[in-house]
Amino acid sequence: MAGRRFVVSCLHCKRIVAMAGLLGADELNRLVAHLLVCCPTEIAKPSLGIEATLRHFRVEPSDPGDKPPPEAA
Ligand SMILES: [Zn+2]
Repeated sequence: MAGRRFVVSCLHCKRIVAMAGLLGADELNRLVAHLLVCCPTEIAKPSLGIEATLRHFRVEPSDPGDKPPPEAA
């Protein structure tokens, strides 16, 4: 699974906010910072929990054409 990355896009403005292999503290900070700019009236707190933050984003693999095989031979 090495090299797998995810695209994180905002559900409000549809913009891609982050691309990462893991959602670490840096990525989460970026997502929160985006929410504060994107919809400050809805998100008033700069210190949201991870789940509350991710609720505003879509996370999907960055390589939709690279589907995992149904069965590894
Ligand atoms: Zn946004």
